[in-house]
Amino acid sequence: MDQVRTCLACGREAPRELLLRFAAAPDGTLLFDAAGKAPGRGLYTCPSAACMNGLPGSPRLKKALGGRKAGIEPATLLEAARDQIGGRVRSLLSLARKSGHLLIGTDESLGALRTGSARFVAVAPDAAGRSRGLSGERCVRLGRVDKLAMGGLVGGGECAAFAILDDGLAASVCRDLLRLDSLLDDVPANGRGGTVSRSARRSRETGR
Ligand SMILES: [Zn+2]
Repeated sequence: MDQVRTCLACGREAPRELLLRFAAAPDGTLLFDAAGKAPGRGLYTCPSAACMNGLPGSPRLKKALGGRKAGIEPATLLEAARDQIGGRVRSLLSLARKSGHLLIGTDESLGALRTGSARFVAVAPDAAGRSRGLSGERCVRLGRVDKLAMGGLVGGGECAAFAILDDGLAASVCRDLLRLDSLLDDVPANGRGGTVSRSARRSRETGR
């Protein structure tokens, strides 16, 4: 069982691997730690813009830093988290493709489910038609990573669904893809002017 950590913004407890980890520099600046292995004290939040926005005023964070003021820019942290987790998903999918453990497309994923070779199937929220058949405990229908973003993650074009055939890769891709999906929920409070369209564009370009 994974270790439990607390979100410094909302106080929710969750398995460490489902949260985002930050490392505090000596001057109090928070840096996003995608791999979760940076030295120094780990600080955690839920993978959501709402919780990153809540960090600057968080009494829990102040306490965790021993009363020091933290240097935090939620928009920068969010951007770094999206970029780094998106990059991790892309490289995991590239590994899966090279080792023959990635199938792209609705029919291919349906086939892999039928034969039992699919360990994890990701389905875009805007996937329609035969993708309805992609259901069951190994399938996840995403909330915000749409066909275009999924296409970017697997290497171009649009992608309604893909299947991972390897257990280890399936677990890693599933975890990071869900975190990425959560991070696309909204924009940080200090992002101003055209944030809605920028957010929408970013979510479409996540895979690039
Ligand atoms: Zn939280």
